[in-house]
Amino acid sequence: MNHQLILFCGPSGSGKTTVVHSLLEKFPQFIFSVSATTRPQRINEKDGVDYYFLSEEEFREKIKKEEFLEWEEVYPGRFYGTLKEEVNRKLEQGHIVLFDVDVKGGLSVKKYFGKQVMDVFIMPPSLTVLKQRLEARESETQESLEKRLAKSGLELSFADQFSYIIVNDELQKTIREAELLVNDFINRKPA
Ligand code: 5GP
Repeated sequence: MNHQLILFCGPSGSGKTTVVHSLLEKFPQFIFSVSATTRPQRINEKDGVDYYFLSEEEFREKIKKEEFLEWEEVYPGRFYGTLKEEVNRKLEQGHIVLFDVDVKGGLSVKKYFGKQVMDVFIMPPSLTVLKQRLEARESETQESLEKRLAKSGLELSFADQFSYIIVNDELQKTIREAELLVNDFINRKPA
C-alpha cells in the first residue's frame, strides 16, 4: 500500500504549526499525527488533540516498550515523540498524515517512510523575527523562550537536508505556497 505522509519542520516560532492547522482545515483527507510529550499542557490545548500529555515516567515506559517511531528530548527535560500506533492507525484508515515535529525527529520520520514522505522546512526570515514571534507568545516563560532560541540556530543548519524550504516572511503567502506543494504531492502518480 502506498501511503502519503507530509512533514513540516523548522524551529519553534517558524510558523509551522499554524501552516499545519491551516492545511488540516483545507484538506479533509489530511489528519494530524498527535505526538506524545512531557511538556506542560498550554491553556488552549486539548489532550489527545494537540498532544498526548504524559508524565516523564509514562513517556519512559513507552520508550522501553518501543512504542515510538522516533522520540527526542527536544529541550532539556522535555520529551516529544511520534507513536507508531498513532501513525499506522491513521494511515490504515486511508488518511494522509501530517507531522509537526522538530528537525531531528523529522529526519527520522523521513528515513522511516522514505519516498512516501514529502518534507518541508519552514524557515523564519531571520533570528530577530523568530525571537519577536516567540516573545509575542504568551505561553512561553523566559526560561522556555531561551531554550527555544538556543536551539533554533542548530535547527536552521539542518534546513538543506529537506526537500523544500519555505521562508515564512508573510503567513498567507507561506500558506499558499504550502498548499501548492501538498497539492502537487497528493496528486502525484505513484512511481
Ligand atoms: P511545542 O512545545 O512548541 O509544541 O513543540 C516544540 C517542538 O517539538 C516543535 O519543534 C515541535 O515540532 C516538536 N515536536 C512536536 N512533536 C514532536 C514529536 O513527536 N517528535 C519530535 N521529535 N519533535 C516534536
